[in-house]
Amino acid sequence: MTATFTPRGSWATLKVNNGLHPFLSASADALSSYDPATGELVANVATSTLGQVDEAVDSAERAFRKSTWRNDGALRARVLFRWAERMRQQTEELAELLTREQGKTIGQARGEVLSSISMIEYNAGQARAIYGRSAALKEGVHGVVLREPVGIVAAITPWNYPLNLTIRAVAPALAAGNAVIVKPASLTPAIVIKALALLAQDNDLPDGIVRAIVGSGGTVGDRLVTHEGINMIAFTGDSVTGINVMKRAADSLKNVSLELGGKSPNIVFADANLEKALVGAENAIFSSAGQICTAGSRLLLEESIHDEFVERLAQRARDMNVGDGLDPATQMGPLVSAGHKQTVWDYVEIANAEGTVVAGGRSLDDSPYDKGNFVAPTIVTDLPADSRLVREEVFGPVLVVQKFSTEEEAVNIANSTDFGLACGLWTSDLDRAWRVGRNVEAGTIWINTYHHFYGEMEVGGFKKSGIGRQQGVEGLLEFTETKHLNFDSNPTFW
Ligand code: NAP
Repeated sequence: MTATFTPRGSWATLKVNNGLHPFLSASADALSSYDPATGELVANVATSTLGQVDEAVDSAERAFRKSTWRNDGALRARVLFRWAERMRQQTEELAELLTREQGKTIGQARGEVLSSISMIEYNAGQARAIYGRSAALKEGVHGVVLREPVGIVAAITPWNYPLNLTIRAVAPALAAGNAVIVKPASLTPAIVIKALALLAQDNDLPDGIVRAIVGSGGTVGDRLVTHEGINMIAFTGDSVTGINVMKRAADSLKNVSLELGGKSPNIVFADANLEKALVGAENAIFSSAGQICTAGSRLLLEESIHDEFVERLAQRARDMNVGDGLDPATQMGPLVSAGHKQTVWDYVEIANAEGTVVAGGRSLDDSPYDKGNFVAPTIVTDLPADSRLVREEVFGPVLVVQKFSTEEEAVNIANSTDFGLACGLWTSDLDRAWRVGRNVEAGTIWINTYHHFYGEMEVGGFKKSGIGRQQGVEGLLEFTETKHLNFDSNPTFW
């Protein structure tokens, strides 16, 4: 860690409360967020009571029913484009707050802000292009299929990409004409509230169309999930929580979209461009300290390149600059909280006990790491196939390396977990890329690349990685109901 970066700025005393941001339904105790690199206070955000959840649903319902919002795509486009512009003007402030609250490097934080802006702009354009279909069914009979907003959407989001994953739900939900109530993760509320405040200040946004609830998932989150007035839950988070959310939402039969966990394979064949694959494999697992749902946490290497590839990757991991995300020289920041560090550490202990650790395997506890939540980038080989570390999501900088000798074996290993979120594959053989890409069960397949996302392109999971899709046209249509209007100029009955 170097000491040459700008010291912490004005966010240390940031307070976001009801007085500043009327869209935030909160007045009770403050929830504090802390810098995971230093332990310093970042923000106090007022929390919401259960009564305020009910009030937010009532005002969302009123706004949805009584305003022109749901029928005016051009209005929605204007509001969303202006939100994107206000975000763009505050890119640096938002990026700094994101790094302070979540821990990722400032470069990654800037990237998250910019991709969030891009996501808003994509959906702003789509707001005017939500088309249905029509058909002449018989003489004098016509059918028109419309896409209508679902109604009141609750977006419940995690801490790892707090801005992006909130906007990934909010922007299409609004573009489609819904009202949205956002419940950000309790570890990263300030960045989300700050960004939503830039939306809420728009004079043309009907009051109540966007509301935010802050507080614990088990209380205010559960109230949203079970509330009869909410029509859809857009949930992003852990698979166990997602399954629970789906069960809890079942009694009121809500639409549910679930973006959940992963244990993604990153497959390198011997015929690949190995220089690119090396950098890709490093990025796939250590970017954001492995706290990415699509992290390439299982590296599958063809036998003939295994030993050399592992040694070169291990050297890169050992050389990695781990530190405070605000330092521009930092390549990997801390884990988000002390609690999460403990979770990750439990898996590192499995690595040490069951496998061969070729890099890391250590907790970083001495100065300059002593105030933060740091674990060294870790790579482990030779684990038994049934090890928990091979099958379970760690959500940290811990890479499991597995060996294969045939393409069929690579696909079998790739498909051998309960998850199916993403997969990387590296090869110079186009036919192989096609075959493997078709046979791996995952929502995103990156070929000779990794971790590139586009607002235009759908993401989502097979198996226990989720239900439904976000981003792209399908992601937008998740926030709509399909309605058939049937016209008959001369109906006959019996
Ligand atoms: P999490 O613990 O499941 O929390 C996600 C959100 O759900 C938070 O806002 C949380 O509130 C809330 N929540 C918790 N319990 C709830 C309940 N009973 N009812 C309603 N809401 C509840 O997940 P996380 O630790 O924040 O995020 C990490 C996980 O997210 C990883 O598994 C990762 O793979 C997954 N993820 C998936 C994607 C994807 O696109 N597939 C993207 C990013 C992350 P509190 O913060 O107050 O607990």
